[in-house]
Amino acid sequence: MNDRDLKANGGKVWLAGAGPGDAGLLTVKAAELIEQADVIVYDALISAELLSRIPHDTETIYVGKHAGNHPVPQEEINQILAREAKKGKKVLRLKGGDPFVFGRGGEELETLVEEDIPFEVVPGITSSVAVPAYAGIPVTHRDYTSSFHVITGHARKDGTLSIDFDSLVRLNGTLVFLMSVSSMEMILKGLMDAGMDPDTPAAVLERGTTAGQRRVVATVENLKEESDRAGIRTPAIIIVGKVCALSDELHWAEDRPLGGRQFLLTRPRQSMSSLAKRLRNAGAQVIEMPAIHTEPISPNEQLKSALGLFRQHEDDRWLVFTSPIGVKVFFDAIKEMKLDLRSVLCGKGNVRIGAIGSATADALCGYGLIPDAVPETYSAGELGKEIAKMSEPGEYALIARAEKGSEDLIPPLTEKGMFVEDVPLYSTEYEVNPVLKDEAARMLRDREIDAVTFTSASTVRGFVRAMEDTETDYSSICAVCIGEQTARAAEEYGMQIEIADQASMDAMVRKIIELFGAKS
Ligand code: SAH
Repeated sequence: MNDRDLKANGGKVWLAGAGPGDAGLLTVKAAELIEQADVIVYDALISAELLSRIPHDTETIYVGKHAGNHPVPQEEINQILAREAKKGKKVLRLKGGDPFVFGRGGEELETLVEEDIPFEVVPGITSSVAVPAYAGIPVTHRDYTSSFHVITGHARKDGTLSIDFDSLVRLNGTLVFLMSVSSMEMILKGLMDAGMDPDTPAAVLERGTTAGQRRVVATVENLKEESDRAGIRTPAIIIVGKVCALSDELHWAEDRPLGGRQFLLTRPRQSMSSLAKRLRNAGAQVIEMPAIHTEPISPNEQLKSALGLFRQHEDDRWLVFTSPIGVKVFFDAIKEMKLDLRSVLCGKGNVRIGAIGSATADALCGYGLIPDAVPETYSAGELGKEIAKMSEPGEYALIARAEKGSEDLIPPLTEKGMFVEDVPLYSTEYEVNPVLKDEAARMLRDREIDAVTFTSASTVRGFVRAMEDTETDYSSICAVCIGEQTARAAEEYGMQIEIADQASMDAMVRKIIELFGAKS
């Protein structure tokens, strides 16, 4: 450790860019830091999709503008960074775009230098290049321009701009104005007064790279009028130059199957990524707000003794699973008990495996077990009936599942005369994401979220509980549900329900594309 490290008590600040909004534009380094930081200091430009990547036990400090309030003064932000680092923490200062492009990142570092606190800078993808790219506007093009210039449109206290329009016009390059919505008229007039051809193509690009991105392409002369007509608001950039005309031909982001769509996912974190990934691949923006998480019961004495009986049973036996996470927890427990799978499965009678649906069946395949019974419709009752149909009285069924599992599974088995042992493997706990909750409520209110996905009745109940004091109007929510049981829970709160044709992530994605996909 050098002097600085010692003074900061082992603490350090990473000044990192988070990109312009699309979570996929986060750098690998910034993504790793989000996972590892002790405290994350962020402001209003950080999108909900990005916030949803913050682990739920990481401390966060919001330093952006609250509705109607003033932003936290820069000096105070600088002090917060120094204070947190001095506590010995890994502090991640997350900024929109790149931290040094009109991000006041330099000022924050100066304070750290004064206080002898170590830091690193992680550049980010700046909106000044990425937002045009997502609108199909290359900032340079050999046929049209050989330079691009990034300018702040932020007005001085007296309302004037400190922009040398004559020089800008002479440069003849692409001009990108940040923080420019409120000074748009002055900027465009300034350019024309300095001799720019009023017919020069120009565009204003709002909330670029996010599901809400909008673009208005016009000319320097009429951009203001067109922008007002479209009701363009900040954050947006103005871009001026011949390259803007290419957008008509090169636009692409909104043309992806789910381009312009945004979904809220409520699955537990462990199983979140596959659905999120598939929706993102189709162009959607995805906010992951797990409404539940699972807590394995460990050590699991009941499972241990049930497995003992299972092995000794003289007749045929069933091992029954009702969720992918149940499969994982079961095998984790086997490992913890240092049991060999062969000793569990061998014995006098045959062992057959039951799975509630294709996702659970898939999880079992990952451990080399292909289920014998998977009901056509995903429901505990159907699974029970299917197993009973295939069994004889006297067979043993070990049901390895969540605490308080559905009551429908067991009666068909006991009616058949089977021995049933219902073994809880994990409990389901509700989860609230305090960082995202209010933002999610606002987005639902403003109809920015096209649908919320639910993969179990408990995700519905967890979601409702998480949103408890936000006055969310559930009847306005489109709930895409994995099966009937889940849909019934969503219906109880008055949500508009849609049900996947099968209980699988593929079917969920198919349903979402059917409902929200661009009709080509
Ligand atoms: N450091 C940031 C810029 C901060 S200044 C960067 O490198 O991108 C804030 C301005 O950035 C906003 O007023 C707006 O002009 C622009 N901006 C940031 N994100 C944007 C987005 N997603 N879409 C349009 N403009 C954006």
